[in-house]
Amino acid sequence: MRDPVSFLEEEYQALVRADLDWKMRVLSGPSAPWCSVEGQKVLMFCSNNYLGLSNHPRLKEAAAEAARTHGVGSGSVRPIAGTMDLHLELERRLAKFKHAEASLVYQTGFATNAGLIPQLAGEGDIIVSDELNHGSIIDGVRLSKADKAVYKHGDAADLERVLNATEEHRPSYRRILIITDGVFSMDGDIAPLKQIALAGKSHGAMVYVDDAHGEGVLGEGGRGIVSHFGLTRDLVQVEMGTFSKAFGVVGGHVSGSRALVDFSYNKSRTWLLSGSHPPPVAAACLAAIDVLEKEPEHVRRLWDLTKRFKKAMADAGFDIGHSETPITPIIVGESKKAKELSQRLFELKVFALPIVFPMVAKDKARIRTIMNAALSDEDVQFAIDAFVKAGRELKIV
Ligand SMILES: *Cc1c(COP(=O)(O)O)cnc(C)c1O
Repeated sequence: MRDPVSFLEEEYQALVRADLDWKMRVLSGPSAPWCSVEGQKVLMFCSNNYLGLSNHPRLKEAAAEAARTHGVGSGSVRPIAGTMDLHLELERRLAKFKHAEASLVYQTGFATNAGLIPQLAGEGDIIVSDELNHGSIIDGVRLSKADKAVYKHGDAADLERVLNATEEHRPSYRRILIITDGVFSMDGDIAPLKQIALAGKSHGAMVYVDDAHGEGVLGEGGRGIVSHFGLTRDLVQVEMGTFSKAFGVVGGHVSGSRALVDFSYNKSRTWLLSGSHPPPVAAACLAAIDVLEKEPEHVRRLWDLTKRFKKAMADAGFDIGHSETPITPIIVGESKKAKELSQRLFELKVFALPIVFPMVAKDKARIRTIMNAALSDEDVQFAIDAFVKAGRELKIV
């Protein structure tokens, strides 16, 4: 008789043998600049908490207060009995922050992409994606019955080529949907959204940008990539993002026209069929928007520290790739080297994880650092010193 579950252990062990399994590091306490990881106080250098908001007193107080006034669960999915005043207030405030007509909040960014993309394009349509788009976009595209095409990473001329070919061979497509990450999380490069949007316009395509790593980072006061390039909503119709990165909490969202929002909540199964945010989550997200509006210094600080760190690393001889954002990869080559560097950094009290194949090419293994506005000047110098020391020991620089 065949054992129906033997594959579980076999496949897991195969990952372990290939050194491709995830070994989780456990934080006891908040994701703060200095955090406690497996009993060691280390400097956090790889979280997505760009602005330090996940441990900001205003957000914590808002969450605690909402738990007192609204409880810890919403009790239902949004369309039935799970929409509270806090959820609607969050959507109003987010739309205002984004200068959009309307916004819609989902449970996560992943749920947004997985729920919305297959509704925006289906049978008889085509989705055209950047080849390096995030996994949640890839899954959203897979759930769609639309035809699929990819263009070369960050290459608007190649997108134009794909759109021309599409028009030539299948002029009968009902809709064309172009999707790109705003900031690509492995290299920190920014999508050429203006050229993408213009290509979209000339072909009558809808443009969808996933700004998970651009919000709180790019644009006026951290309003994201659409603001960064000064684009209008007739060019980029769907602006998607997350509260789990620079906003410091959790939750996905989409902003654009009122019609986009009305369509999206009536059609996205992830929104319709999954419990809504607990009130403390909605309240903390509201407070995050408040902080971004009232304390623009966090975004400025993020960029100051980013520039300082990038310069010091380049001066020390590290390969820092071509990032344009606070994500700075320290590219070392082989996977083994990246793991050794991460381990040595941890001993030197800097917490930064390696990113290796298959997430990046085999010879481009790296430590991915992400700057955090809550770090002090001394913290950043501490990290630079640790990188230089470990890099010299391991003959990387
Ligand atoms: C992190 C990320 C997501 C997922 O967002 P969550 O809210 O954490 O589910 C989606 N897209 C991109 C580009 C991301 O980096």
